[in-house]
Amino acid sequence: MAKEYDIVILGGGPGGYVAAIRAAQLGFKTAIVESKKLGGTCLHQGCIPTKALLRSAEVYRTAKRSEEFGVMTNEVTLNLAKAQERKERIVSQLYNGVQHLMKKGKIDVFEGKGRILGPSIFSPLPGTISVEMNNGEENEILIPKNVIVATGSRPKALPGLEVNGQNVIASDEALKMETLPKSILIIGGGVIGVEWASMLSDFEVDVTILEYADCIIPTEDKEISKEMQRLMKKRGIKVVTAAKVLPETLQKGDKIVVSAEVKGEIKEFSADKLLISVGRQANIEGIGLENTDILIENGFIRTNEYYQTKESHIYAIGDCIGGIQLAHVASHEGITAVEHIANNEPQPLNYSLIPSCIYSHPEAAKVGLTEEEARNKGYQIKTGKFAFRAIGKALVFGDVDGFVKMIVDDATNDVLGVHMIGPHVTDLISEAGLAKVLDATPWEIAQTIHPHPSLSEAIGEAALVVEGKAIHG
Ligand code: FAD
Repeated sequence: MAKEYDIVILGGGPGGYVAAIRAAQLGFKTAIVESKKLGGTCLHQGCIPTKALLRSAEVYRTAKRSEEFGVMTNEVTLNLAKAQERKERIVSQLYNGVQHLMKKGKIDVFEGKGRILGPSIFSPLPGTISVEMNNGEENEILIPKNVIVATGSRPKALPGLEVNGQNVIASDEALKMETLPKSILIIGGGVIGVEWASMLSDFEVDVTILEYADCIIPTEDKEISKEMQRLMKKRGIKVVTAAKVLPETLQKGDKIVVSAEVKGEIKEFSADKLLISVGRQANIEGIGLENTDILIENGFIRTNEYYQTKESHIYAIGDCIGGIQLAHVASHEGITAVEHIANNEPQPLNYSLIPSCIYSHPEAAKVGLTEEEARNKGYQIKTGKFAFRAIGKALVFGDVDGFVKMIVDDATNDVLGVHMIGPHVTDLISEAGLAKVLDATPWEIAQTIHPHPSLSEAIGEAALVVEGKAIHG
C-alpha cells in the first residue's frame, strides 16, 4: 500500500541525510530512499576514505623522517592492507552513526532505487515515488507532499579512456587498490587528482599529472596554484600542464601508453596505471525526471536559490545541481531547502562564504574571491601575504612551506578572500570563514589575539601585512 509523507528524499549522501534530519527536527514525516549506502559518495568513496588514506600517507612520510625529530625507528615499511583496514573501520563507524541518526529522527529509510513516477493518485502533483527495493521485494510506492532530489554524482567519463577497473581506473577503483603500482599517470590536476598524486607519491609511486590547463588546481588563486605546483615538483611528482590527452593513442599492454599534445608537441607517457580524474557528472538518469517539467542545464538539475526545481514542490540539492560540489555545500543546501518547505524564510546561501579545502601535502584552503576574480569584479584591492617559514610553530612542526594570503577591498576594507597553502590550513581556514561571515576587517583580524606558538599566527600576521604593520615580516 502507498505510504504518505511530508518529505521524501532521493539519495542519502551528506545532502540527503542532513536534509532528512532537519526535516524530522521540524516535525515533518520524512522518508529517505538510498540505492546503495547511507552516507553517499562522501562517506564511501570521497571525503572520508580518501582522507583516511591520506593520513596513513602522512604518518608514513613523517615516520621516514623521524630521525630529524630525534625519534629513532627501525626500518619503516608500508602495509597497505592495514591502511585499507583502518580506512574501512572509520567508514564503518561513521556509517553506523548515520544509521543511528536516522533511527533517532524516526526517519523511514527505504533501501532501493527511487524514481519519480508522475502525478500521484491522491494529488495532481507529479511527485509519487516508486522504490525498486534492493531486497527484491515488491516496489514501494511513496506519496510525498514534497520531494528533495539529492542523487549526487559519479566520476565523469573521458570518451576513449573508459575505466576498466584494471589499469584504467577512477577514484572509486583507486580507493580499493590492494597493491600499489610502481607508476601512475593521473589525468586531471584538480582537487581530487592532486590529493591522489600527493598520497600515491607518499606511498612511493612514481606519479605524473597531466593537466589540460596552464597549471594544476586552476580554479584556485594563481599564487596558490603556482606554489602547489612548485611543491609537488619538489616532492618528485611530475607535472605536465597544457596537456591535451589524445584518447585514440591509448595502448593497454603491460604498461599503459598514451600521448598528449603539450604546447603543440606530441609527447608519449607510460605508466602501470592510468587514473582518470576529470570531474564529476550528475546522477540524473533513471530517476523519472522525464515525468516532470524539471529543467536540466549543462547536465545538472536547474533550481532557484531555495533549490526548487520548475516543479515547485520538487527540490534538488548537492552534487546533482552542480556548482560547488562539496559535502558541506550539499548539507547546507539541504537544510535551506527544508527550511523553505517549512516556510521559515531561510536566507539563500552565500557561496562566497563557503570554504573549500585540498588535503594534499601541502594542504590548501580558501574562502571568498581569488585575486583574479576580485580584479575582474572591478575591486581595487590590497593584499597581505605571510609565509609559514617565519612562524615558530611551523618550524617546530617541521613543515615550513606555504603562506597565508589575504585579499582586501581597498575602498571598504572588506576581506574579499583568504587563501592558504601549508601545514594544517584545512583547519585554519575556519577562522577566515568566520571573519568573512562577521564581515571582519584586517584590523579586527589582527586585533584577535592568536596564541603563540601556533600556526594561526600566520593569519594575524597576513592581516597586519595588509595594514602595513607586520611584526615578524
Ligand atoms: P552523494 O554523496 O553523491 O550522495 C548521493 C546518494 O544518492 C548516493 O548514496 C547514491 O547511491 C544515491 N542515489 C543516487 N541515485 C539514487 C536513486 N535513484 N535512488 C536512491 N538513491 C540514489 N567534498 C568535501 O566537502 N570534502 C572532501 O574532502 C571531499 N573529498 C572528495 C574526494 C573524492 C575522491 C570525491 C569523489 C569527492 C569528494 N568530495 C569532497 C565531494 C563530496 O563527496 C560530494 O560533494 C558530496 O558527497 C555530495 O553529496 P550529495 O549528497 O549531493 O551526493
